[in-house]
Amino acid sequence: MAIQELHWGASFTQQSETAAERNAVPRNYFIWTIGCQMNTADSDRLGSALQQMGLSEASSIKNADVVVLNSCVVRQSAEDKVTGTIGMLKPIKANNPNKIVALMGCMVGPKTEELAKRFKHVDVFMQPQQYEPLINLLGERLGIDPEGCLSNLSDINADVTSFIPIIQGCDYFCSFCIIPYRRGRQASRPLQEIVHEAELLAARGVREVTLLGQTVDAYGLDVPGEGDLADLLYGLQEVQGLERIRFLTSHPLHMSDKIINAVAELPKVCEHINLPIQAGDDDVLTAMRRPYTTDHYLRIIEKIRSTVPGVAMSTDLIVGFCGESNAAFQASYDLLEATRFDKVHVAQYSTRTGTIADRTLVDDVPQEEKKRRLMAVDALQEQIATGINAALLDETVEVLVEGQGNGKWKGRTRTDKLVFFEDDRDFHGRMTQVKITETAPWSLQGVPVMD
Ligand code: SF4
Repeated sequence: MAIQELHWGASFTQQSETAAERNAVPRNYFIWTIGCQMNTADSDRLGSALQQMGLSEASSIKNADVVVLNSCVVRQSAEDKVTGTIGMLKPIKANNPNKIVALMGCMVGPKTEELAKRFKHVDVFMQPQQYEPLINLLGERLGIDPEGCLSNLSDINADVTSFIPIIQGCDYFCSFCIIPYRRGRQASRPLQEIVHEAELLAARGVREVTLLGQTVDAYGLDVPGEGDLADLLYGLQEVQGLERIRFLTSHPLHMSDKIINAVAELPKVCEHINLPIQAGDDDVLTAMRRPYTTDHYLRIIEKIRSTVPGVAMSTDLIVGFCGESNAAFQASYDLLEATRFDKVHVAQYSTRTGTIADRTLVDDVPQEEKKRRLMAVDALQEQIATGINAALLDETVEVLVEGQGNGKWKGRTRTDKLVFFEDDRDFHGRMTQVKITETAPWSLQGVPVMD
């Protein structure tokens, strides 16, 4: 098996092929995706490129000539699912050697030799956002020059909402996190390119975009003079047809006054900010290598809430991190109770091979205790979210209707609350005023209010 290094830093492997196999013409593709919104956005983009090359989307992995697994390794459970799916493809590939199997995403590091030895039935390995190896292989198989398929790549199938990755990678090395090793250093896209992509999406009917980055509020800081996230928000505010702008996920160190003021001033920017705290105890934050204190974090929350009226705040928290004592956990719990976030994404710590925590810290909180802490946070948050959402009863909120589920229309408020309503008329993609008739911690029910 030859391994060919490519100029953009990724690599692909080609197995020996017969002439017949070489001539096999792929007609359709299937992309299997697991993980965060960045992966979803990458898959959408790759799907758009494949469609631009003339391939159609297949209904299943089995029916597809090209199978792409877009992987996540943030948690062991995600990695296990990826490994299981790669294994499932082995007999399928053996039955049909013409099938192209590609592994993409965070499981693929800068060096692919180990993966190539482990998964001999995988033809192509691609790091996140590095679509070229597959595109070029397909270009060879199809006998076309794929030049141009990746330029200005945007999701051509986007409907009401769409993701736009604006900054790749991460310059931090939080001790629990594997992402910087897989996604590389921060690299911002040019501001004008992003605005142009938003214009293309809006022209296709997209009404809401979510700007994505591992540290989205660090946008532009790696390219002096390019403009920062606030400048980008001002640029996107001018895009005709676009009605809502969101951004995910922020880092407390980069949530500047300029960004907060932009959220407050710009009508299209939604009043919802996710700002991960990860722990409510300074010693745990230090062990996590998170470069801020709880005091600093709380000052930012205060600033956001006093500047952006009606803002909804969410956060991410890890429980049971190495060395997290009962008192340290209680500090996190107390902080959540006092701060009253709209949503808390809580995860139980588990060691990821290759991280700093894996190399230098002891995973010393017993499994049962981690679970107890997780359940305590879940219960607390359910109670808080119940109270926050109850205040919306009988209020009329603006909902962008994204589609249907279980016979009901569903959409989100500007503050990212999920709203359902029943109606026989077509509300797809419509900005709709909805009167809330029922509230629950994780969603709202209502009736549309017609003009
Ligand atoms: S900021 Fe920390 S948690 Fe977020 S991607 Fe970077 S290293 Fe991972």
